[in-house]
Amino acid sequence: MDFTRRESLKFGLAGAAGIGLTTIMPFTARAAPDGYKTETGEIQVSPISHASFVMTVPGLVIYNDPVGGKALYEGQPAPQLILITHEHGDHFDPETLAAIVGADTKLVTNPSVFEKLPEDLKAKATAIANGETTTVGPVEIRAIPAYNTTEDRKKYHPQGRDNGYVLSVDGRNVYIAGDTEDIPEMRALKDIYIAFVPMNLPYTMDVTQASSAVAEFKPAFVYPYHYKGSDPQMFAEKVTEAAPETKVVQGGWYS
Ligand code: ZN
Ligand code: ZN
Repeated sequence: MDFTRRESLKFGLAGAAGIGLTTIMPFTARAAPDGYKTETGEIQVSPISHASFVMTVPGLVIYNDPVGGKALYEGQPAPQLILITHEHGDHFDPETLAAIVGADTKLVTNPSVFEKLPEDLKAKATAIANGETTTVGPVEIRAIPAYNTTEDRKKYHPQGRDNGYVLSVDGRNVYIAGDTEDIPEMRALKDIYIAFVPMNLPYTMDVTQASSAVAEFKPAFVYPYHYKGSDPQMFAEKVTEAAPETKVVQGGWYS
């Protein structure tokens, strides 16, 4: 269809990313969606920008923290579930939401964002706090804490307010960390297939913290995301050295 053709023309990378990757792939442009096998189908990941991405899982199209205006999402399948981790402008943008939300789109947010939603979006939304779960279609969603632990960063993401998410679908768990440091709740995660982990100062953590945490919970695949100003290749080198079983996938987050 149009999407496939456009992406192939633009980048010529269809089929190059995902399961077949050995470790690190340098990107100069946004790739075709990366595909990951599930029990009965596939998870497809399309990095959009910074913390925003589109993920298609068997039975559901999910947008994570969509911001930046509708044009960024042209060519993508329409969202059935929108996840919002917290209220900062690089994660929550009511104007973008108003432009992309359809009649049947559901939103899952943390309680603080829920209170900030306009009434029409609130009617489509469910708030879950840290530790709570909800289900949308085939996907179970668990809210994982996301917060700063370094004293002079606590003002950005105080403990208890913001969410990360673990999505369970078709026998796989996907972890979206949100804006957080290498908290114990992250390090204790088990059986994560794909993880999205931030690394930028002063808002989240540095690549040493991020790679140390990832080497502890050992997802099968990890995307550095939300890393403006940090070096994702350094992250990849540290992860590969400490946990070679984890594959680092570089996306075109800032291209
Ligand atoms: Zn934030
Ligand atoms: Zn952020």
